[in-house]
Amino acid sequence: MTKTARKEYICINCQKSSRTLYTKYSEGVIRLTECDNCDNIVDKYIEYDIVLLAIDLMLQYIEAYRHLLNNLEIKRPARLFVIFWFSNAYETWIGERMATNRDNIYDLEWMFYKSVLSSALQMIAYISIVIIFETIYSRAKPDFKRFKHLVYSTLLGFYGNVAVVLSIVFRLSDQKSYQIVFSFFLFISHLQVQRVLFPLCSILDNMIVTVIAEIVSRFVKTWFETVSKELPIF
Ligand SMILES: [Zn+2]
Repeated sequence: MTKTARKEYICINCQKSSRTLYTKYSEGVIRLTECDNCDNIVDKYIEYDIVLLAIDLMLQYIEAYRHLLNNLEIKRPARLFVIFWFSNAYETWIGERMATNRDNIYDLEWMFYKSVLSSALQMIAYISIVIIFETIYSRAKPDFKRFKHLVYSTLLGFYGNVAVVLSIVFRLSDQKSYQIVFSFFLFISHLQVQRVLFPLCSILDNMIVTVIAEIVSRFVKTWFETVSKELPIF
């Protein structure tokens, strides 16, 4: 009989900590751990297929976010972050391309590099606000483990950026309705991540932090666009 005791897990229903997610009795026979606090299964998602988890994330179920950010160990998360980053950069690039109407291949190439840099700055700005909030909220700088958790979780909140693939396939980028839905989806995703990171804060407080992070991130984007126009290489 083996137990999953890699680290401290949390119950995705009540957020009470749990030492295990399941107990393995023999090959193919496992029993999911029940929560001591709420009597529900600590984490039903460990039996779910990744596609079902992705659907629940897109439906913005907070339990799915708790599983993703607290109980799931993602192998090589850096690859995911690069995908989210470049998807975001592509979205920015499309927007700028439509705004400037330039079709010269060299201009477009430089514009893409600029978008990649702009996206990185936006993400850094977003994460910085979360770190600042953590410092104010806990009245101490986060230790390395917590810092890493905050950065990883906030970066995962950008997963909605991969919707850019849909916008390419269905040619939606210039549609105002798509842009509004896309922005709203990203905002809710970040809010859910924020709620998982700061479970003791009220939804209103978490919403305020998400709004501030969004505003600062957009400000950084606008600032970078203004500055980069004055640089000869762009
Ligand atoms: Zn529970």
